[in-house]
Amino acid sequence: MLQHLTGRVWLYPHDPDPEAIRPSVAVIADDRGSVLVDAGNSPEHARTIGTAIEAAGLPAPKWLVYTHHHWDHTWGACAWPDVTVVAHATAVDLLTAEADRPWSHRYLRDQVEANPKLGPSFRARALAVADWADFRIVVPHQTFDEALALPTGVVLRHVGGNHAPDSTIVLADGVALLGDAFYPPPYHVRTPEDAPDYAMIKRLLSERHAWYVDAHSPPRRLSEALAQSG
Ligand SMILES: [Zn+2]
Repeated sequence: MLQHLTGRVWLYPHDPDPEAIRPSVAVIADDRGSVLVDAGNSPEHARTIGTAIEAAGLPAPKWLVYTHHHWDHTWGACAWPDVTVVAHATAVDLLTAEADRPWSHRYLRDQVEANPKLGPSFRARALAVADWADFRIVVPHQTFDEALALPTGVVLRHVGGNHAPDSTIVLADGVALLGDAFYPPPYHVRTPEDAPDYAMIKRLLSERHAWYVDAHSPPRRLSEALAQSG
């Protein structure tokens, strides 16, 4: 079910089960066309969110923004009809390479056998995508370099960082949607020295948005986020 956060911003919450790797998806509702922030981790996840958007009576999404190219933020894209997919320019080559891989349950199994560190991510993908027949990775239709304002006033800003080179934050109605931007690198390439990007967190908090939403946690008010950052 969609939760209203503030202003035009609604959230379909993340799955608290870490093994599901199912991040939150935001909807910035607008009569000129809603903006989706991230696609859901699978066509099934996307369809569930689509049904929730209809049930809440919100305008259909017209733009889909990828906070970054990782599967759990992009693999639902093929199930969203008639959206313009927008992402940072560096997402194009990354997603083109991902789209060229022969995704199937057998491929996932073989990859985990070759590199067991892929297990948590690839097992979650196998659970998320039951049927590969209607699955495809959608490469962005529109890109930007530093920042972009969509026609409804939603602002996209590239922040990059160690988690993903294309990490983008989305700003709307006092809410900063962060994706995974300040997280350490993905598990299979993470080293013991890797940590959250505290400098980025500090920088983003200094902008004093009313709400901070990373994709795998409940939303935090500014005061809560400041308290947690110490
Ligand atoms: Zn990620």
